[in-house]
Amino acid sequence: MGYQVLARKYRPQRFSDVAGQDHVTRTLLNALTQGRIAHGYIFSGHRGIGKTTIARILASALNCREAIGSEKRPTPEPCNACDSCIEIRQGNAVDVIEIDAATNRGIDEIRELRDAARYSPARDKYKIYILDEAHQITEAAFNALLKTLEEPPAHVVFMMATTEPENIPQTIRSRCQHFSFHAVKFEDILAQLKSIAAAEEVEAEEAALALLAEAGDGSMRDALSIMDQAIASAPLENGKPALAAAQIRDLMGSVPNAVFERLLEAVAQGQSAELMEQLHVLLNAGHSPLSLARQMARYLRNALMAKLGGEQTELLQISADERARAMRTAMLFTEEEITRNLQIVLRTFDDLNYRQEQRFHLELGLLKLIHAQRLLPLEEFLSSVAAGTTPGASARPAPSSAARPTSAPAPGAARSTPAASTPSSAPPLSPFGGSSSGSSAWSTTPTIKQSASAAPAISAPKEPAAEPTRTPMPFLVGAAVPVEAVEEAPTPDPIPAPALRESATASSGETPGVDALRSAVVQALAQGGHQSASTLLSTGNWTLGAGNLKIEVGGLGKKMLTLTVNSAAEKIIRAELQRLNGPARFLVVSGEGVAAGASAAAAPLAGSVQEEALKNPLVQKAKEIFRAEVRSVVDLRAK
Ligand SMILES: [Zn+2]
Repeated sequence: MGYQVLARKYRPQRFSDVAGQDHVTRTLLNALTQGRIAHGYIFSGHRGIGKTTIARILASALNCREAIGSEKRPTPEPCNACDSCIEIRQGNAVDVIEIDAATNRGIDEIRELRDAARYSPARDKYKIYILDEAHQITEAAFNALLKTLEEPPAHVVFMMATTEPENIPQTIRSRCQHFSFHAVKFEDILAQLKSIAAAEEVEAEEAALALLAEAGDGSMRDALSIMDQAIASAPLENGKPALAAAQIRDLMGSVPNAVFERLLEAVAQGQSAELMEQLHVLLNAGHSPLSLARQMARYLRNALMAKLGGEQTELLQISADERARAMRTAMLFTEEEITRNLQIVLRTFDDLNYRQEQRFHLELGLLKLIHAQRLLPLEEFLSSVAAGTTPGASARPAPSSAARPTSAPAPGAARSTPAASTPSSAPPLSPFGGSSSGSSAWSTTPTIKQSASAAPAISAPKEPAAEPTRTPMPFLVGAAVPVEAVEEAPTPDPIPAPALRESATASSGETPGVDALRSAVVQALAQGGHQSASTLLSTGNWTLGAGNLKIEVGGLGKKMLTLTVNSAAEKIIRAELQRLNGPARFLVVSGEGVAAGASAAAAPLAGSVQEEALKNPLVQKAKEIFRAEVRSVVDLRAK
């Protein structure tokens, strides 16, 4: 006998030899044991996973002559020795007709088949038709077959193998037993390759076989086909072919995954130049951009699965070494980042298929990975906007401590750009608009949200401009519900050192002292009806910088702070500072340095809004229900 390819030579002859399709073989064995034979079977699944093999084993089991006349007939396992079994294995059994539906798909062929099916089998018990690629049969041809399936002669069995079961008409499907085949697991393929290597007397590295099994991608036949090629091209060692991983990668034109691990490390660290250099080396070595993009997508997919399911997840059909590698890469990124990277690489792969300058597109795609690293997750952005802080200011979990070199185009700066478009910190609207010295740190703080009308230049009017909300009751805003109380404002960015040094020289002279400013502002606020703001600021830490006044107050969350020192109160403060020739800019922040209890400790003034609110039974009830304390009361009644 001449040379036979491995896939045929080692084609399983018994149900128990078929790898990875236990759910199918178990059912078929049961059916055979009980003598429940259907007249139509559909075997569906990817290529090369054993559909036709199982169809043939089933045919052998049905027609095995060894069992004829015995009680066991049809036999669960064929003998593989009788004429019938041997002929079926060789594909020339007279009563088992294999039809490639891809070429015999028309109505004439199927009519012929249907007419022939009426006649009894020539020798064996069943007349069996195995239709490969059954989805290719035309609709008219299927209709011609339908009648036979509806009222089948007792001796006829149809077996349809297909990769696209959904393209088989429902009328046909509903008359058949449908078996859906699984992709063969990596371990199953690897075990089969090992036993074949031993049987063929091939010296094979474990890594080499793992590569072949991976390349099979769930298909035993694919893996065996590549193994055929690999053995044919393998160098001889002691007269035996020797399979090495490097040789197999050469054969498949693939790159070791270590390369992709390095590329993605460069991505995680924002090293664009390094990334481009590595890519240059790969392309120079003759790897096509298309194949690189495809392998990278596959590698990223594995990293994503490792991220989702851990290193040992079923979702990974790769060797232990590769699992560990995928996990290492997964640790470099967040789940969102890997997802995004995979998306970018897949899109790049798509692009490459119809582009002229493939190299440029691949370079662009990889650079996009780095740029995408600097994007801010939408959730993070939204939550920071809601909290009133600049998103860029919040430290993002860095994938590794050494990541993002400072010399890179400042990821932080790039990330904070979205904030510039929000009204609160857009330069023309900011109360600190046009400020020069080190104000970037200041502009990230929560309390300086301003409406356009409150620009510093037009802050002259003295009237408090209270909102027209006329509520009969003092509106309670300060019930510090535990949840609220937990939320602490982040420590504001420290004033840049240069600004502080400047203040030593600049703040002298005509500017009034901090104490004078404090008492004037506190008084003005009280007069303007902002009792709680007045109380709060009187307990704060006042610091004068170069043209800046910083007031740190304690015990209030960001939200509460903006409610207490609202825009109307800020207007009053600004007007007062201007009147006293004080600093042009001021800032109220919630600081940790100030005793949290400071404002709470201040007992409500007799007759104050605070006292009035505390007496209210509703407030008392609320305090009781929420086990809360009242920190601050804002009076919104017009004065
Ligand atoms: Zn037999």
